[in-house]
Amino acid sequence: MTKTESEFIPAYLSLHKRGELSAHAETALARLEACDLCARYCRVNRRQTVKGVVCRTGEQAVVHSFGPHHGEEDPLRDWRGAMA
Ligand code: SF4
Repeated sequence: MTKTESEFIPAYLSLHKRGELSAHAETALARLEACDLCARYCRVNRRQTVKGVVCRTGEQAVVHSFGPHHGEEDPLRDWRGAMA
């Protein structure tokens, strides 16, 4: 069943309400030390260098834009857009 806009709670807020967000953030930061966050599996310590890092992203990623994407097929999105 699809939730309505007023019922939707972003995943990060649900984690925060359950007291689990900090643990997830710590796990993600630890994984940067031998990065395996995508299929490139660079296993470089991004907290120290970007040398050998395919994405050329260090500890701090840069977000250039964000927003709902409504261009996908209906099965892949709802009123929130894809990936929501
Ligand atoms: S490309 Fe970037 S995100 Fe992917 S594994 Fe390498 S360092 Fe991690």
